[in-house]
Amino acid sequence: MRLRRALLTGWGRTNPSPATVVRPRTTAELAAVLRSAADGRGAVARGLGRCYGDAAQNAGGLVVDCADLNPGFRLDADAGTVTAAAGTSLDALLRHLLPRGFFLPVTPGTRQVTVGGAVAADVHGKNHHADSSFGAHLRSLTLVTPDGAVRRVGPDREADLFWATVGGMGLTGVVTEATFTVLPVATSRMRVDTDRVADLDAALALLAESDRTHRYSVCWVDLLARGRSLGRGVLTRAHHAAVADLPPAARRDPLRHRPGPALRAPRRVPPHLLNTATVRAFNAAYHARAPRRRRGEIREAAAFFHPLDALRDWNRLYGPRGLVQYQFAVPFGEEGALRRIAERLAARGAPSFLAVLKRFGPGVPAPLSFPRPGWTLAVDLPADLPGLDGLLTGFDELVLAAGGRVYLAKDSRAAASAVHAMYPDLDRWRRVRDRVDPDRVLVSDLSRRLGL
Ligand SMILES: Cc1cc2nc3c(=O)[nH]c(=O)nc-3n(C[C@H](O)[C@H](O)[C@H](O)COP(=O)(O)OP(=O)(O)OC[C@H]3O[C@@H](n4cnc5c(N)ncnc54)[C@H](O)[C@@H]3O)c2cc1C
Repeated sequence: MRLRRALLTGWGRTNPSPATVVRPRTTAELAAVLRSAADGRGAVARGLGRCYGDAAQNAGGLVVDCADLNPGFRLDADAGTVTAAAGTSLDALLRHLLPRGFFLPVTPGTRQVTVGGAVAADVHGKNHHADSSFGAHLRSLTLVTPDGAVRRVGPDREADLFWATVGGMGLTGVVTEATFTVLPVATSRMRVDTDRVADLDAALALLAESDRTHRYSVCWVDLLARGRSLGRGVLTRAHHAAVADLPPAARRDPLRHRPGPALRAPRRVPPHLLNTATVRAFNAAYHARAPRRRRGEIREAAAFFHPLDALRDWNRLYGPRGLVQYQFAVPFGEEGALRRIAERLAARGAPSFLAVLKRFGPGVPAPLSFPRPGWTLAVDLPADLPGLDGLLTGFDELVLAAGGRVYLAKDSRAAASAVHAMYPDLDRWRRVRDRVDPDRVLVSDLSRRLGL
C-alpha cells in the first residue's frame, strides 16, 4: 500500500491542508487503514479531488485515495447495469460504455470524477428534471464502514445506511463498488437546440418548457448584464441523437467516442486575469455570438456535456488564490431569491464567466442530497474578490429564507449554522452516522468546519 504526505485542496485551490495519503488496493487493506485511523485524526475518502472545497481533505489525518481499490468495471448489457470500482472515473466508464451503446444515467459537468465521488455527492446533471440525481439510478453499493465490516446496501437493503451514504460526503463508510443502471443509446452524439435568451424571465420560462420537450437542458447566464438584460443567457437543450439524425459519414460509426486530447492551462497566469473588464468582454462576446435560435445541431457527447474538460487544469486561470463556486438551489415559487442574487452579482460587477442555471426535478430520499424540485444556479468567482465573504453570506441568508440550500460538494466557506438550517434532515442522517461511526473515524475538513 502506497503512502505519501501531501498538501491537498479541492478544485477551487483554496484552504490547503496537509495529510497522509494512503492508497489501499484491497478491502482488507482499506479496513486496516480505517482501524488505524481510529487512533489519530481519522480518515476520509478521496476520488479525483473535483469537489470545489474541503470535502476530500483531512488536515493532519489520513486521506484514502481510492484509485487502486479493486479496479475495474463490468457491464451487464442484458440487465442494463454496470458494476464499477469506486475509484473508476466517469471518463473511463464512458470510453467503455459509449462504443457499446450505453450512456451514464447522470453525468456532472466534468467526466473527471470517480464513481465514489458521484455517490458521495449524489451528483446531478443537465437531466435532473427528467432523471433525478445519481442516487436514483443506484441498485447497490459496497462499502467498508469504520469497524472494518464490508456491507452491501441498496434501496431495499439497509436502506437507511444506503441513503445516508448517497450524498453523505464520505462520512458513513468508504464506497468500494457501485452497481447502477445505464441508458441505452443508438449514437454517441447529441441533437442540440440553442436559444439566446434576453433576460432571466425568458431563461426560466424556456427551462420550464424544456421539462416536457428535452431530456437535457442548461442555461449559461451572463451575470454581468444589468437592468433589462439581467440574467440574459444562452440556453442549450438536447437529446441523444438517433442514427438517422447523423450526417451520412457519421452513420458508419454512430457510437464512436474519442474525446480529443485536452489542452493544458498555463502554470503561471497573470494575477487578476479574470477581472470584471475581461469577463464582461468575454460574456458580451459569448452572448452575441451564440445563435439566436438553432435547431438539431449534432455535437459529440463530450462537447455537450463536458466542454470544460477540453482545457486541463483550467482552475489555474484564477491565479494562486483560487476560486470559489457558489451553488445554491431554491424551490419553485422562490424565483425572487434567484433574481435578487443575480441583481447583487451584477451590481457588484462580480466577474463570473461560468454561471449555470438548471431546473431540478424530483429528489431522492437521501437526507444530505442537494437537489430538490426548483432552480439551481452555480457561479464561479475569484477567491480574492474583495468583499466576497460578505456577499456570499448575504446570499446564504436569502437562500435559507427561501427554503433553499447550498451544495456541500461545492462549499468551502458557509457557516455551520446556516448549513444545519438548510438541511432539515441532518438529524436523520446523523442518527445513521452515529450508529456506523460512533467514534467519528470518518472526518474531513468539511465535516469539522460544518459540524456535521
Ligand atoms: C468542472 C466541474 C464541474 C462540475 N459539475 C458538476 C455538476 O454538474 N453536478 C454536480 O453534481 N457536481 C458537479 N461537480 C462536482 C463534482 O461532481 C463532485 O464534487 C464530485 O463529488 C467529485 O468527485 P471526485 O471523485 O473528484 O471526488 P472528490 O472531490 O475527491 O471527493 C468528493 C466527496 O466524495 C467523497 N468520496 C470520494 N470517493 C469516495 C468513496 N470511494 N467512498 C466514499 N466517499 C467518497 C469524498 O470523501 C468527498 O466527500 C463539478 C466539479 C467540477 C470541477
